[in-house]
Amino acid sequence: MSAGPLPIVRFAPSPTGRIHIGNARVAVLNALYARKHGGRFILRFDDTDVLRSRDDFARSIREDLVWLGIPPDVVVRQSDRTALYDAAAEKLKAMGRLYPCYETEDELERRRKRQAARHLPPIYDRAALSLTADEKAALEAEGRRPHWRFLLDRTVVAWDDLVRGPCTVDCASLSDPVLVREDGSYLYTLPSVVDDIALDITDVIRGEDHVTNTGVQIQIFEALANGKPLPAFGHHNLLTTASGEGLSKRSGHLSIGALREDGLEPLAVAALSVLVGSAEAVRPVASLDELAGLVDLARLSRAPARFDEAELANLNARTVHGLPYDAVEARLTALGIAGGEAFWLAVRGNLARVADAATWWEVVAGDPSLPAPSPEDAAFLAQAAAVLPPEPWTQDTWGAWIEAVKQATGRKGKSLFMPLRLALTGVEHGPELKALLPMIGREGVMRRLVG
Ligand code: GLU
Repeated sequence: MSAGPLPIVRFAPSPTGRIHIGNARVAVLNALYARKHGGRFILRFDDTDVLRSRDDFARSIREDLVWLGIPPDVVVRQSDRTALYDAAAEKLKAMGRLYPCYETEDELERRRKRQAARHLPPIYDRAALSLTADEKAALEAEGRRPHWRFLLDRTVVAWDDLVRGPCTVDCASLSDPVLVREDGSYLYTLPSVVDDIALDITDVIRGEDHVTNTGVQIQIFEALANGKPLPAFGHHNLLTTASGEGLSKRSGHLSIGALREDGLEPLAVAALSVLVGSAEAVRPVASLDELAGLVDLARLSRAPARFDEAELANLNARTVHGLPYDAVEARLTALGIAGGEAFWLAVRGNLARVADAATWWEVVAGDPSLPAPSPEDAAFLAQAAAVLPPEPWTQDTWGAWIEAVKQATGRKGKSLFMPLRLALTGVEHGPELKALLPMIGREGVMRRLVG
């Protein structure tokens, strides 16, 4: 963390689609960093691309953050802040750091090909810098509008990355980046720096696909910041699919919205998104504070972090197994489950998702479809029914009953337990019968044993 004030960090998506688990990684890393150090977490919509940005995407991104448990402290939109970018662009022009260029895409492409043929690096040759005022006027008279490039210092920019340690970008090997398009709109590069300065961002934590941008943006920062200290930068490894491809906005089924509709726990999604590809094992956590304690930027791996849907399903189940009743009470009630805490504690260890509790509620309180026993087992079940203890029933009833069934039938082990489990629940595996028995009640048990 940078020295000085409490951290102010930002998550800066373009609202051009739903966010997916890879975007959640950036968001959660930032939010937990702020949480751990008592700082602030800003959601900044990078919506300078007016054609592709949409309000409904912005809304759903915000909702997804709330669902993940990391609501932003502040929300800003770049489309509201154009005046700041205009002022910064004017300042850079006055400093001679932003210069007009008139080449068309075709001209640039031809030039790149010529350079490649001569084995020169394909970087912009700065031809526009030597245009005279008359030449510029002539081009404009032809109807050409300039785009604007930032004049890079041809130096090596170095910083101490929060994730990667010492980093350098050789700006001599880069083209002067275009900051302003012909139509006057801004590309991402400049507004991001202007906002990072204006919003007092202390730590820029983002994906490693931005490392080169950081070299450029540090130069823009230094040109604009009036001596204000640079933020710290941290570039984390990106999530890939299990087969190593990058996640994209097309990975729709991995959108946070889809995972939520699929019934996954926000804590499981948040934990997986940041623990995978880190020094910590992927494991369930009871709270975001606990998760914040596990996440250390310096201990993220340098290799890509592979996202595996099966690992998420498994982590979700393990998370559900530890959820206390008060975390699920409202959801169980909404599902029509009236079994209270005792029911939840009895079944949670068997669930992949909270909503699956409904299946066990049907077993306990409904009229589950049960397989017909073999004739031999039917006789056994009738004998077991005959020794059912009278109510009231407690968790000890099962043990007492089983003793009596053993005595009466001579069965033991699997041939004793399995027909009873099948008769009572319809399936071979599930919650402990000693917990379910009092919930089913004597009448229900009797019906299931002897029809
Ligand atoms: N809108 C940029 C992105 O989504 C933000 C990058 C940054 O954090 O600066 O990649």
